[in-house]
Amino acid sequence: MAKDVISGLYEIKGEKIVRRRKFCPRCGEGVFLAEHRDRRTCGKCGYTEFKK
Ligand SMILES: [Zn+2]
Repeated sequence: MAKDVISGLYEIKGEKIVRRRKFCPRCGEGVFLAEHRDRRTCGKCGYTEFKK
């Protein structure tokens, strides 16, 4: 199956739909966290999540 990208947010790999970005746990679904090299941040509430 060819790899398709829908709206840049989801990526289809085989039969799985992979969620490429995490939602903010404070703002809830619909608000994505910005990806950085060592952390993820929410531009709305300022939530920061450090990668391990
Ligand atoms: Zn947030």
